[in-house]
Amino acid sequence: MLSLFALHKSNRFVHVSEVERGLACDCRCAVCGEPVIARQGELREHHFAHSSNADPCASSYESDLHRFAKRVIIEARGLVVPVSLAASQALGFGGRLDPSILLACTDIEEEVDVGNRRPDLLAATTAGVNVAIEVAYSSFCSAEKCHAYEQLQMPALEIDLRAFTPTAFDVVKVTHAILEDVAGKTWLWPENIEAQTPGELSAENAPKQHFLLEEIVTIQGRWISVKELPSGDIAIKAVRYDPDVVSVVRTVARAHSGRYREAYHNWVIPRFRAQAARLQLRAIASAA
Ligand SMILES: [Zn+2]
Repeated sequence: MLSLFALHKSNRFVHVSEVERGLACDCRCAVCGEPVIARQGELREHHFAHSSNADPCASSYESDLHRFAKRVIIEARGLVVPVSLAASQALGFGGRLDPSILLACTDIEEEVDVGNRRPDLLAATTAGVNVAIEVAYSSFCSAEKCHAYEQLQMPALEIDLRAFTPTAFDVVKVTHAILEDVAGKTWLWPENIEAQTPGELSAENAPKQHFLLEEIVTIQGRWISVKELPSGDIAIKAVRYDPDVVSVVRTVARAHSGRYREAYHNWVIPRFRAQAARLQLRAIASAA
């Protein structure tokens, strides 16, 4: 099978669509280390070929996809995950009922043994919780996996990437599915989150709290959280400190009568300007 991935000289594991054509791709074969040429011609599917013209090294698309997904999560230092009451509690967020939340991580390690499993990634969240992340392409949510994490009482997320076959692989779409979308994400433990929506939580268990909707606006790979408050005002903040993003947030906030809340490191925009501020952030994101 043709090789769709290679190792860039920066040590980044890249898809053929992310590099320049030919030897200018500056990549090596991820298996044997030989320099490769990015073939991006009209006739054949784009791929990497050894510069010596030797036959492609044997590689597995499934493990390459895993490796790519790990790169994306490590570079982003987090991802958006679905939340149920159980997941929220296991993640240390208490009884919040957002349908999804950005899980920002302080540390992400690859291939660490936890109990009898070796998840693709083991992430430490900013709330201090260890979360296992498994990427799935051909086998999903087995009872064995769920049970292993239940015994460890460790939240474990599975990301379903089966839609992204070699020919359907699109860097932007795959990255979106991994980082921002929650449709393909399932908690192996606490279980069955996908069956649970906030509306189905029983009234007794549900804390008396408003439903806070969070939108993540991505500007050049960096995240801005836009959260609707019960009053209809919105709170915006850069998810992680980054001078450029902080400055975008400040500019947009000031343009829409925002006020800074020191304690939360966020800006609150009054509800009558909320939609305009949201649209401006989205416009900046799509122009970036
Ligand atoms: Zn090779």
